[in-house]
Amino acid sequence: MAKYTGSVCKLCRREGEKLFLKGQRCYTPKCAFERREYPPGDHGRQAQWRRRRVSEYWRQLREKQKTRRVYNVTERQFRRYYAEALQTRGMTGVNLLGMLERRLDNVVYRLNFAESRAQGRLLVTHGHFSVNGRRTDIPSMLIKPGDVIEVRAGSRNRTYFKELPQSAESRAAPKWLERDSGNLSARVIQHPDRADIDANLNEQLIVEFYSR
Ligand code: SF4
Repeated sequence: MAKYTGSVCKLCRREGEKLFLKGQRCYTPKCAFERREYPPGDHGRQAQWRRRRVSEYWRQLREKQKTRRVYNVTERQFRRYYAEALQTRGMTGVNLLGMLERRLDNVVYRLNFAESRAQGRLLVTHGHFSVNGRRTDIPSMLIKPGDVIEVRAGSRNRTYFKELPQSAESRAAPKWLERDSGNLSARVIQHPDRADIDANLNEQLIVEFYSR
């Protein structure tokens, strides 16, 4: 399936919860979900009040879609992650979330070097980051323990990155990442644990969805 290019706020309204896809705006009264807490579309408001029986399949599908939307990955990419998680030792669902969490665009977001994963993706594709000293523009790159992520020297003069050392400190980095805000860099200490992934996701439902 092609990349979604519509309004991301509609995705929150479709899932019936805030997915925090837009950075700071999500914490303000401008948040579309705060103003219209019902599904998008002509009949969204009626659907909110309609009593409907929710099937197990529907719950599993919605959880898969929600997770995909939180991490901003396509259906095809998501399936690939799942196939790899299945091959890896351990619990498939936890492996899947661990892989999504180790994506470079997510890591940039987790470090608070970007307001959202979408912005993290943009910063990476524009080549502002290096991993282990090598420039990369691949947001799906999976980082691993020992990797060092830095803002590239050529990008540090930009206004955005000049202000980043102060703004990055406004949100704590997860314990699996050692952030050096002053130096605009970070080191990966370990793989993320399930407890480190704070998003409200139920990986068991995703496994059940693909096991049908
Ligand atoms: Fe979702 Fe953020 Fe838009 Fe609110 S502002 S609907 S949380 S993406």
